[in-house]
Amino acid sequence: MRHLLDLSYEEIEAEFASWGEPRYRAKQVFDWVFRHGATEFDAMTNLTPALRARLAEAFTIAPLPVLAERRADDGATVKALLDLGGGDAVETVRMDYDPDEDGAPDRVTVCISTQVGCAMGCRFCATGLQGFTRNLSPAEIVAQVLHFSRASLAAGTHRITNIVFMGMGEPLANYAGTIAAIRWLTRPEGLGLRQRGITVSTVGVIRGIERLAEEGLQIGLTISLHAPDDELRRNLIPTAGGTTIDQLIEAARMYIDRCGRRVTFAYALLDRVNDEPEQARALARRIRGIQAHVNLIPYNPTAGPDLRRPNIGRVRAFLRELQAAGANATVRIERGVEIAAACGQLRTDVQRAQTRPIALVE
Ligand code: SF4
Repeated sequence: MRHLLDLSYEEIEAEFASWGEPRYRAKQVFDWVFRHGATEFDAMTNLTPALRARLAEAFTIAPLPVLAERRADDGATVKALLDLGGGDAVETVRMDYDPDEDGAPDRVTVCISTQVGCAMGCRFCATGLQGFTRNLSPAEIVAQVLHFSRASLAAGTHRITNIVFMGMGEPLANYAGTIAAIRWLTRPEGLGLRQRGITVSTVGVIRGIERLAEEGLQIGLTISLHAPDDELRRNLIPTAGGTTIDQLIEAARMYIDRCGRRVTFAYALLDRVNDEPEQARALARRIRGIQAHVNLIPYNPTAGPDLRRPNIGRVRAFLRELQAAGANATVRIERGVEIAAACGQLRTDVQRAQTRPIALVE
């Protein structure tokens, strides 16, 4: 049966109109879904029983069942593995940031997946090594956010403020699913998040970046570089193929011009592969003059024995070189979500039936 969130809001309004129902019914239904956490039409008590029955015959709003859930950072990080059926599963992570004195987070970010597996084959990524299975539908992407937003509603805790498309899969390789999910997450009748609270992270799908820039959205963009030169980048990201770093930087410039947003370049630091001081200087030279931030992510080993995490001294030295060369850069160590923790680690872990907790904390 079709999930209601696989249709756009406008399509659902049109469906209601064809049933002879007023347009505002759509708003009522999505109030229940997004603001009350409803998971069945029967809960929607301001709809007539006949309409509830008709909706239940035509659509579902069922959540994705939870296969596993793990916590770290004293509960400030929660990872969930959700069942997509047919043996497929998807991973999503909630991270609470900057708690005040009472422990209330200033920012609640959910990292979501857009594909089962990934075709990009990055050498340092557990998901990439598993290969590509399929794209997620818009409803399956939004369901990951709803999983955590329902939990917040039930517990009366802080609402989600940010979404990062940095989980399993390449979001811009599932462009239709990604953009439809963004519409649901940002429109007032949906989750109503600020566009600026959403970030799409891509390994470099140029056509996708161009399309995203045309959408008239104010969402953030992260481009994974991972190397200061094309030869090394192709080695780390075999599917980078003919896409050069110059083309990516050009795409970033275009995105900044069109959307007025700073772009982030992600750079996974791999011990003695891409973390030498001269590589930091080369990276800084390449991105000079562009309104960008470099997010250094020390590798969280998952993908195989040949890649290692640099020690903290090498990480600091790389950062120093970048900053000395004029680049705006920071290191993200504390969660490790950007690379390994959100790239199929839990799925792999569950598949191997291991019981040890995942180390999310440095
Ligand atoms: S790092 Fe991202 S783009 Fe690369 S293989 Fe993993 S999921 Fe795909």
